[in-house]
Amino acid sequence: MPVLHNQVSNKVLKERMLAETEPRTTISFYKYFTIADPQEFRDRLYKLFLELQVFGRVYIAKEGINAQISVPSSKVEALRALIYSISPELDNLRLNIALDDDGKSFWVLRMKVRDRVVADGITDESFNPSNTGQYLKAEQVNQMLDDPDAIFVDMRNHYEYEVGHFEQAVEVPSDTFREQLPMAVDMLRDQKDKKIVMYCTGGIRCEKASAYMLHNGFDNVYHVEGGVIEYARKAKEQGLPLRFKGKNFVFDNRMGERITEDVLAHCHQCGSECDTHTNCKNDGCHLLFIQCPTCAEKYEGCCSVACQEESKLTEEEQRSRRAGREVSNKIFNKSRHRLSAGFINPEK
Ligand SMILES: [Zn+2]
Ligand SMILES: [Zn+2]
Repeated sequence: MPVLHNQVSNKVLKERMLAETEPRTTISFYKYFTIADPQEFRDRLYKLFLELQVFGRVYIAKEGINAQISVPSSKVEALRALIYSISPELDNLRLNIALDDDGKSFWVLRMKVRDRVVADGITDESFNPSNTGQYLKAEQVNQMLDDPDAIFVDMRNHYEYEVGHFEQAVEVPSDTFREQLPMAVDMLRDQKDKKIVMYCTGGIRCEKASAYMLHNGFDNVYHVEGGVIEYARKAKEQGLPLRFKGKNFVFDNRMGERITEDVLAHCHQCGSECDTHTNCKNDGCHLLFIQCPTCAEKYEGCCSVACQEESKLTEEEQRSRRAGREVSNKIFNKSRHRLSAGFINPEK
């Protein structure tokens, strides 16, 4: 019986990864295509990925696959050959290789079957996620940014937009993609004659969003091929001016890939220029927010004095405090946290 799940503790697995001497390469890829039996596909792929010592997060659904993984650098080409051969739909698929990366983002392989690879809340049966807009390559993206008829629409979350975005991109102000889809249609309803350029981190959200815009009667819909990750890679490779400013946020240990030196955001506690995300060190909080080194020292990595104090209690005391407390939004959002003109008031 092959082992189809992890049997060793997370901590041990992480130590094992850190002890590896061979460098790892972080790769992401996705594809919207019909998978008739996602569970069978998942089990088959899991075994093949284990053989190549792949770590990471993979989602499989009837609508396709979404993967963020790392592989020993010597096995990148073997992985490529494997992916190309699993399905004709994946032959020659673009694999996004992360820039500026130590390959230490993952230490375990998690592969899950889901309803959708990207939750969209769309109930309309006639919606086809593989009927997408036109891809824009890096050079075309830069041309579009100079086109007065083009509107760039950022399909990522607020905390992602906050630390980096394309020049003049419109933010769709919600923290969930499923809310953003109808919101984008609504915001742009009077701009149907314009060129709509959608983008996201790795292309998977904006690709679906582009299909949704087409579904809703927009005719000139484009999306950035491979998202910000691929744009940055290609623009650097080709010596093009980088028109995405700041950081590309990614949910891994690094919490973001720096694209340009511009710092667009501010510390959520003191307002100084900063774009370093962190999670509040209080285990009962873990709020994702931006904290400068000075505040990190002052509040010991916590989002507030209350969290700072709580984090020093014994585990039992912390647990009893947490019991019964509502676990609410874990991401700092200026529109929701209106304290101190958009900043956290750490003394409260
Ligand atoms: Zn600060
Ligand atoms: Zn906190």
